Amino acid sequence: MSPERIIDLRSDTVTLPKEEMIEAIRYAPLGDSIMGEDPTVNLLEKKAAELLGMEAALLVTSGTMANQIALMSLCQRGEEVLMGGDSHIFTLEGAAAAAVAQVQIRTIEVPDGIYDVSKIERNLNAGDIQRPKTSLICLENTYNLNKGQIVSLENMKEVRAVSKKYSIPVYLDGARLFNAAVELGVTPADICQEVDAVQICLTKGLGCPIGSILAGSKEFIEKAILNRQRLGGGMRQAGIIAAPAIYALDHMIDRLTEDHQKASRLATRLAAIDGIRMEDVQTNIASLELSREDWNSQFLIEFLFTKGIKVKNIGENRVRMVVHYQITDEDIDRVVNAFEEFASVITMESTV
Ligand SMILES: *Cc1c(COP(=O)(O)O)cnc(C)c1O
Repeated sequence: MSPERIIDLRSDTVTLPKEEMIEAIRYAPLGDSIMGEDPTVNLLEKKAAELLGMEAALLVTSGTMANQIALMSLCQRGEEVLMGGDSHIFTLEGAAAAAVAQVQIRTIEVPDGIYDVSKIERNLNAGDIQRPKTSLICLENTYNLNKGQIVSLENMKEVRAVSKKYSIPVYLDGARLFNAAVELGVTPADICQEVDAVQICLTKGLGCPIGSILAGSKEFIEKAILNRQRLGGGMRQAGIIAAPAIYALDHMIDRLTEDHQKASRLATRLAAIDGIRMEDVQTNIASLELSREDWNSQFLIEFLFTKGIKVKNIGENRVRMVVHYQITDEDIDRVVNAFEEFASVITMESTV
């Protein structure tokens, strides 16, 4: 008997490029992208700018690089940036905001992906001899990489109004922007209209092997090109990265609703198991907490691994599962069965 396929739910970044992507790489026309001469990169950037409703776009190697370039391009050294405390820029970029972009982060809580605009307003500083000037508001949509919460368009418009009142630009870390857009039933451009600049990850639900897109005004992208170069992010025949990205923008966005449906089905079925408390699932991310004290997430993870299932430990007896295009309906059944088995086995052991 052949061993069962591994079901990897740790992240939507674990996907491998589709055969069509490999084919696209094989036939992509290439050139020197630092000289602006890679036709495939140029086509991708044009397509992405249109899709996001922005003047210009730039291919960069990662979401983290996109975020740092945005901070470098929109802020001066020693200024302050306001964002939610669960934002990737604050929690998972190796303190690059301090070490590389040299800005200070101020955080506010964003419960359930809802930005409280009066809280934002209270945390803005005009800047004086002691207090750093707030030069940027950073949003994240979907918010919180362990929850995938959708920030509503209305909420983004409210933030926009505050930003206009104080003439402070808004940047959107839209690593999973398309997940929010398909779920809200709006276009990506509808969302991006409420911000000055945005990044989207090609490597999350879209299934590309490498890359992010940074987009904004022409003036912003000009600065971004220089800052990308300073970070060593200028690339040569980057068409090999752009080719799968073009495929992804054409074919991988609308299907994200399938991932959301699977995540929701998974959550509903797991919530029926005594001892599991599911977080609300809005997009493709389902997190849970083990609510029984005799259960332990490390033990759960090891048990699931013996069944060929990988999930991510996010601490305090919590685990995360992210659905992506390689996860099938049968996989969801297998995962639910494994959890049910875990619950029965561990309940038996603890009553012996
Ligand atoms: C994944 C992610 C990033 C960073 O992307 P990398 O390509 O891994 O550097 C940034 N922001 C959010 C919200 C993310 O989920």
